[in-house]
Amino acid sequence: MAKNTGLDPNGSEAPLTCHECGATMTRGIQPMTIRYKGLSVTFDMPGWYCVCGEGVVTAKDMDVSDRQLNLLKAQAEHLVLPSEVRRIRKKLGLNQQTAGSLLGGGPNAFHKYESGEVLPSKAISNLLRVLEAMPEGLKVLHGESLETTAP
Ligand SMILES: [Zn+2]
Repeated sequence: MAKNTGLDPNGSEAPLTCHECGATMTRGIQPMTIRYKGLSVTFDMPGWYCVCGEGVVTAKDMDVSDRQLNLLKAQAEHLVLPSEVRRIRKKLGLNQQTAGSLLGGGPNAFHKYESGEVLPSKAISNLLRVLEAMPEGLKVLHGESLETTAP
């Protein structure tokens, strides 16, 4: 029999018992709304939920809300969004490792920016926007002269 190698919604954790009513909680999703500086987002929050309305989220579940909060912060602070980081990096012809070394943040930085795990700083955001408008600026970072050699 084929084994499901994908994401198991039940995970390997044993079902939790509700501390409010004693019923067995089940894995599921419920809408959650978070707010930040006048912006808000509603998304499906995974967790253990009980028929009584009680819910428990694990540290792993919190990754989902952390990423949503990061997206909200990025919008509020006018930072480059994860999808934009990826688009601009590709436009510049850089892989994630090179982008992190060249633009700053280290070899793993762009993986984190693009997954939404970590927000790019205002400085990285602005640098990406400048480079998107003027890709030739990359030459400056590579240590080359911007001036073209006269034939
Ligand atoms: Zn309950």
